[in-house]
Amino acid sequence: MTADVSQLLPAAQALLPQIVAVRRRLHERPELGLQLPLTQAVVLEQLRALGLEPVAGSGVSSVTAVIEGGSPGPTVLLRADMDGLPLQEDTGLDFASQTPGQMHACGHDTHVAMLLAAARMLMERRAALRGNVLLMFQPGEEGFHGARFMLEEGLLDRAPSEVTGAFGIHIGTRYATGTINLRAGALLAAGDTVRITVRGRGGHASAPHLAADPITVAAEIILALQTAITRQIHAFDPVVLTIAHVVAGTTTNIIPEKAHLEGTMRTVSDEAREAGRALVRRVAAGIADTHGLTAEVELEPGYPVTYNEPAFTDFARGLAVELAGPDLVEEMDHPIMGAEDFSYVLQRVPGAFVFLGARPAGQDPATAPQNHSNRVVFEEPPMALGAALYAAVALRYLDA
Ligand SMILES: [Zn+2]
Ligand SMILES: [Zn+2]
Repeated sequence: MTADVSQLLPAAQALLPQIVAVRRRLHERPELGLQLPLTQAVVLEQLRALGLEPVAGSGVSSVTAVIEGGSPGPTVLLRADMDGLPLQEDTGLDFASQTPGQMHACGHDTHVAMLLAAARMLMERRAALRGNVLLMFQPGEEGFHGARFMLEEGLLDRAPSEVTGAFGIHIGTRYATGTINLRAGALLAAGDTVRITVRGRGGHASAPHLAADPITVAAEIILALQTAITRQIHAFDPVVLTIAHVVAGTTTNIIPEKAHLEGTMRTVSDEAREAGRALVRRVAAGIADTHGLTAEVELEPGYPVTYNEPAFTDFARGLAVELAGPDLVEEMDHPIMGAEDFSYVLQRVPGAFVFLGARPAGQDPATAPQNHSNRVVFEEPPMALGAALYAAVALRYLDA
């Protein structure tokens, strides 16, 4: 028998006032990084009120809980991230952040509220579940590898049966409100931090032949990297490299000893990631050497590619169409070069990650404040669809 998910969207719409209330409560008190004590307390309180026995993380302030179904079966993981960002909110909303310099600008407050509502709907239907639902509330998505810490703390061993599927949602203003946007395969990029130190020999700016100028070499490296990418990287398996931070020198008449370059490299395949890393090392070292200087390259690995397993993506797409109708489910024609640490979970468990559109009506897609903007505003009614989709994925997955 196929689990009936048709009641989930009306049920979530009926819960919308509570979803909005939780979301606004979190929005007023954003927290950053891996330690989110206030947020964690809200999640623990809400899950306990549902009759669950949530577990707080030991090293980082995560929360996990297991909804045990009426009969045995596999476990499906549903994930929400919980952290905010270090910027001053400038939206004018009545429930804007009350913490100076911190804002839920990526909408992770909405993810928590949606997953809590899904947990409630699943608790009401737990007898029908053949297996378990593992709820994952994680800190530290915004660059802190929170999902990786949770995996290292034994996330996947928390459930009574093997975790065989994983699902997550991200809200965004890039997409029209109430739409679900997804694609199979690579969805988001791997992001690596690139740091290059060019070392020469300092001296008088009027006598460069007696010094070894790292600034001209650094400038040449910046441009040569862009040229090398277009000549050496496959156009359909891209490398995006941006040198975003350049530091050298102190005044007009000194050649400094060093120049520092920093930036980010984004790729959507292991092949391009390796090729990009090798290219950065080769170009930086080669150009420095040509001019008699040295370049030290440090590549700090960031999040891996977020990979949507095709069969699970088809499954999630089917449910999105059932809930929202075909007109509101959009196939993305290419990945996005942002990065996301749910990728660590999807490396271990086949699953999918989808985008929920929440761009306010009337805003131009080209200029609407994006996620991470101090002015970003997310429409709240689509949270009902997000909550219903989380619940539908678990309900149908555990009925196979
Ligand atoms: Zn973000
Ligand atoms: Zn985010």
